[in-house]
Amino acid sequence: MSNALDVDGLEGDGREGKARRLAIESPFLRRMQRRHFFLFNVGPLLGTLAAVGWAFVRPIGALELGLFGVMWLITGLGVSAGYHRFFTHRSFKAPTPVRVALAIMGSMAALGPVISWAAMHRRHHRLADRPGDMHSPNLHGADFGGRVRGLVHAHFTWMLQHEYPNIVHYVPDLLEDRAIVRASRHYQTWVVLGLLVPTAIGALVTRTWEGALAGFLWGGVVRMFVVAQSISALNSILHTLGSRPFQLKDNSRNNPLLGMLIWGEGWHHNHHAFPRSASFALAWYRVDLSYWFIRLLEKLGLATNVIVPTPEQKEARRARAAIKDSNAHLQRNEATHGSQGS
Ligand SMILES: [Zn+2]
Ligand SMILES: [Zn+2]
Repeated sequence: MSNALDVDGLEGDGREGKARRLAIESPFLRRMQRRHFFLFNVGPLLGTLAAVGWAFVRPIGALELGLFGVMWLITGLGVSAGYHRFFTHRSFKAPTPVRVALAIMGSMAALGPVISWAAMHRRHHRLADRPGDMHSPNLHGADFGGRVRGLVHAHFTWMLQHEYPNIVHYVPDLLEDRAIVRASRHYQTWVVLGLLVPTAIGALVTRTWEGALAGFLWGGVVRMFVVAQSISALNSILHTLGSRPFQLKDNSRNNPLLGMLIWGEGWHHNHHAFPRSASFALAWYRVDLSYWFIRLLEKLGLATNVIVPTPEQKEARRARAAIKDSNAHLQRNEATHGSQGS
């Protein structure tokens, strides 16, 4: 992936006269994207409003909270540890049953098939906060209106119409994994399974239609809404607000509160600094649920080669950031003295 990007969005493959298109757009893809948005973003929003309204009539209890919590954990870890850290960034190795399980767990979150998600996310890292980054909040103007438009785009509307990355270019490793190609093709089956399982448990536990509906809403629809909003926060909030200890070229941020709330994903700036690291928190005392899950898999013999940066690598990154910081400080001082002197 060290090829150079040219201005047309075409990339050389190292041979004279050959070029490969990196992303495509078509009316068919736009229709699919809009349909997905209405089914799995607008639909869960309406379902969540209905569930909250119903809770005033029939208060929620242990069943609803339990199903929500368990399905939130399963699908969240599927996206964060599976889709993101394993499939996109290859931060550990796992045998076929674990790979397939992670793909199914992540698919149930309804964020798209694993192969598409990984390709889009690799493109995000390659172009972070530059033209071509399909969900950057930082490309819509620096004034207040531009900032708001950028946040709305990054959190919601980019999904309605966006370029589709060339999967042959971005995820050739995943396309060679037959089990994952099959799991990715059956994406819609897994989404439906993620709705059916809590519905069935709700029905079996209560032996009522109301219980089935409560399971469907809280373990299925509300959970889907919350997980999707959490992952959208990576694109919007975590490229806007928070700390930047490594002073990267992109605008990625760390947000400790989101770090705790969304499976460790809130340490997004750390992640941009060390994309292949299985740990995003980069310290044992910070909450990073997905990393702890990966370490648990490793203890059980279900994950190997877990990648984390060495203390020396972290120190080298910090030192680079400190140099950049002092250079920026010097430039600011020079500009101030220059303007005072003129
Ligand atoms: Zn990433
Ligand atoms: Zn990012």
